[in-house]
Formats: sequence, structure tokens, C-alpha cells
Amino acid sequence: MSDTAPVIEIRNLHKSYGSLEVLRGVDITAPAGHVVSLIGSSGSGKSTLLRCANLLEESQQGDVVFCGEPVKWRGSGMNRHPADRKQMIRIRTNLSMVFQQFNLWAHMTILQNVMEAPVTVLKRERAEVEAAARGYLEKVGIGDKADVYPAQLSGGQQQRAAIARALAMEPKALLFDEPTSALDPELEQEVVRVIKALAEEGRTMVLVTHDMSMARDVSDHVVFLHKGLIEEEGPPEQLFGAPRSERLRGFLSAGQ
Ligand code: ADP
Ligand code: MG
Repeated sequence: MSDTAPVIEIRNLHKSYGSLEVLRGVDITAPAGHVVSLIGSSGSGKSTLLRCANLLEESQQGDVVFCGEPVKWRGSGMNRHPADRKQMIRIRTNLSMVFQQFNLWAHMTILQNVMEAPVTVLKRERAEVEAAARGYLEKVGIGDKADVYPAQLSGGQQQRAAIARALAMEPKALLFDEPTSALDPELEQEVVRVIKALAEEGRTMVLVTHDMSMARDVSDHVVFLHKGLIEEEGPPEQLFGAPRSERLRGFLSAGQ
């Protein structure tokens, strides 16, 4: 692993579900300490791209490079799979996902939710994991909710717990898939504040979002996907302030 290489580099990625081509040659780079946002209409391939980046989903062509380390494949096309299971697990555990629907375990307390993967996947020592987990809950502003169950929390609090859970893996990057889309507007802002704070402390993040104001505020680079291809990309000032493509102008003015 290299500390200077981008955390994630995706080159010419192609992904189909059967005959449906969802990604048609996409390149994305997330350098360490940068925030890259992915925007685009529903169905443009944003979630698929995130899942291909952390190998939750297979792809048929192109490279996925994690911290300078190219994913090793066996086979090709529809029969291509990651060849090295240890490498796959290393990449998945280092690219923690935060989902729209939080995906907390309902039968576990918030603290147990945050501790689960570091203890069972990373085999870290419980006491040490618990101390760190409490620290992450404090960081996202729900230190007093450690012993309650997810159903007892608001959506915004549940999403902050999910962010604490992702942080507890001490990943090289965080991948967010529409983290605020399931929230009422007044709860959305508490999650936006946490994401902004993480960006300010230099976390590497890839952020799929419909929240253009958050994307504008936190991103170093914004990518507009359209039907599985990058239609336009650049710094947020350019993408939001002076969009070049007709499609991006249409997308932004539709108030997405
Ligand atoms: P976005 O996140 O931008 O809304 P997605 O990546 O979820 O887009 O989906 C892109 C396209 O792939 C859509 O047409 C969607 O219906 C299709 N798709 C996504 N997941 C699957 C799947 N598991 N099986 C078949 N088609 C899928
Ligand atoms: Mg999606």
C-alpha cells in the first residue's frame, strides 16, 4: 500500500447487469484527503459505481486501484471476479459505506452496532474498541445514545450512528450513498454538519448525493454521471457555477 497514491482510482470501468450496461467506461480518482461527489439522475449508475469501488459488486472491464494496489482479477468479462480474497476483504474494510437507509442492526444497541465490525472483522480487543466507539459517538454528537436501540432514535441520529460505525473501522475512505435522502429536511442538516466536519478534518470521501448545496460546500471535485458515462466533471465552482453541458444545466435547473 502506498500513502501517496490516490485512495481510490477507477479506470475505464464497465459494469452490466445482463444486457443492461450501467457503467460504460468511467474514471474516478479520490486522492487522500479529498472529497469527490457523484451527482446525476436516478439510474445514472452512482450507487453501482460506489459498490464496484469497494468490490461489493463485480465489474466486467477496467481497473480498480486501492492505495496504488490494483485489484487482481481472474477470468474476464461476465466471468471476471476478484482473484484474491484477502485483498478483497482488505479493500472492503478500508472503504466503509454509509447507506441511505442507515442499515443499523435493530437488535443491537447503538454502541454494539459501532463495535461489531471492529471486534468481529478486525479482531480488535473489546475494551479498546469500546473506548474508540464511544469517542466516535461523541464526535457525531450522540454520545448519550450509546445504550439505546436504533428504533429509539430519530432518522438523523440513526444516520449519525451509521457514520460512527463507518468511522470505527478506521477506513482509508468513507463512501456515502445518499446519506441525507431518507431524512426530513430539519434532520438532514445535522447529518450535513457531520459530513462537513469530516471533510474539514481531511477525510477521504466519495459522496453520492442529491443535496447540491452540500456537494458544493464539501467537495474538491464533482462528477456528473449520465447513463453510465461522465458527462462533465470539475471543481464545484465550475460544475455548479458555470456548467458547460446542456444535460448538466438541465439537471441542475430541475432542482435535483
Ligand atoms: P443511481 O444510484 O444513479 O440511481 P444505480 O447504480 O442504482 O443508479 O442503477 C443504475 C442502473 O442499474 C438502473 O437502471 C438500475 O435499475 C440498474 N440496476 C441497479 N442494480 C441492479 C441489479 N442488482 N440488477 C439489475 N439492475 C440493476
Ligand atoms: Mg443510487
